[in-house]
Amino acid sequence: MNDTHRIVVIGGGYTGMFSAIRLAHRTRRLRVQITLVNPSSRFTERLRMHQIAAGQRLADHQIPDLLAGTGVAFVRGAATAIDTDARQVVVDGGAATLDYETLVYALGSSTDTGKVPGADVHAHTLNSPQTAERFAARLAEMVGGAVTVCGGGLTGIEAATEIAESHPGLNVTLISLDEPATMMGGKARAYLMRAIERLGITLKTGAKITKVLPDAVELEGGELVHSDACLWTTGVKVSPLAADAGIAVDERGLILVDATLRSTSHPEIHAIGDAAAVRLPWGQIHGTCQSGMPTAQYTADAIARRLRGKRVEPFRFGYFHQPVSLGRRDAVIQFTKADDTPGRWYLTGRAAVAYKETVSGSPLTTYRLSKHMNVTTIVSKGTREPAA
Ligand SMILES: Cc1cc2nc3c(=O)[nH]c(=O)nc-3n(C[C@H](O)[C@H](O)[C@H](O)COP(=O)(O)OP(=O)(O)OC[C@H]3O[C@@H](n4cnc5c(N)ncnc54)[C@H](O)[C@@H]3O)c2cc1C
Repeated sequence: MNDTHRIVVIGGGYTGMFSAIRLAHRTRRLRVQITLVNPSSRFTERLRMHQIAAGQRLADHQIPDLLAGTGVAFVRGAATAIDTDARQVVVDGGAATLDYETLVYALGSSTDTGKVPGADVHAHTLNSPQTAERFAARLAEMVGGAVTVCGGGLTGIEAATEIAESHPGLNVTLISLDEPATMMGGKARAYLMRAIERLGITLKTGAKITKVLPDAVELEGGELVHSDACLWTTGVKVSPLAADAGIAVDERGLILVDATLRSTSHPEIHAIGDAAAVRLPWGQIHGTCQSGMPTAQYTADAIARRLRGKRVEPFRFGYFHQPVSLGRRDAVIQFTKADDTPGRWYLTGRAAVAYKETVSGSPLTTYRLSKHMNVTTIVSKGTREPAA
């Protein structure tokens, strides 16, 4: 009988990569076989998709190179079904099947263009390097003209500022229902708003988008905002794979997890990153790399501990910063309390640019180091009680 414990990690983004590499190190003296499944062999630096959109070329990080020396097997393909009874992952509709005793579900999330008519046809997204490159190509062929960025969340702000900085000849409009960056403290937010103004970005807030047309974005009330190129950054969706497999999910399709990040319906399945509905004393964590990397770290450690018959403490995490790039030459970092409300301190200008760059590059540094040592990504463990 084969007594090797088979662990399959589906999704080779920020969290799947980290959990696989850390698991390999944590279980190096155990009989464990780890397999990582991802549709592309190139690692997607999602934190930098807005840089691609603005026309920059990113380094080409290949997943097999990042995994070299860990013993983790890489399967290039998409998980297309999970048979939870047989404990099998089906890859590319049956091209391969992978048996597991433990499954780590790390499929992330993507921008939802399905809620507003026309967005799926006429708007670009930052969902993959390919979609970001198509948008960059569109911008490159424009001589003057109007760019609309739909969604004033941090991704929309980073994209709008990056595009405005690198394409000063284009008129960039940021369209948002809510005021941007209200989660920041007053001073950091004022700095961010000044950067938007300095870069010549037109800000339209309180604007509900009702339709995306080939050459315009339609707002509630009928106003048309002319648009030669539209970037959609608002709304999040997750893969239906978990729900289709009968794994318990919330109303958005995120996997419901217990205090140790195991599926509430299938404890042999661990959910991490954007795909997991992680509740903490102060509320549900939102999809960020900042919270995702700790879920991956924790899960790798929890699996290794259980395999050794050890006790596993509940997951704890607290936010500590909101880093926002404002083009390549400016940034603002709001330091926060554990529940993501703003603290007193913030950073701007060149120091913030250097800080943000360190943050964006840190997952790859973490992977390299994690092959040999236990690197922590948990800066704050938060509180056990709801924030006052
Ligand atoms: C432009 C932009 C800027 C951002 N900036 C920040 C920031 O500054 N700070 C921050 O904390 N967060 C930021 N985020 C959010 C952050 O990128 C996500 O929270 C993070 O990527 C989540 O990690 P993940 O591993 O859950 O998902 P991902 O990194 O998205 O990885 C999911 C992986 O699963 C793969 N996959 C999908 N379907 C399948 C399948 N069926 N089978 C196998 N594999 C599959 C995907 O190809 C991908 O490789 C930003 C996001 C964007 C888009």
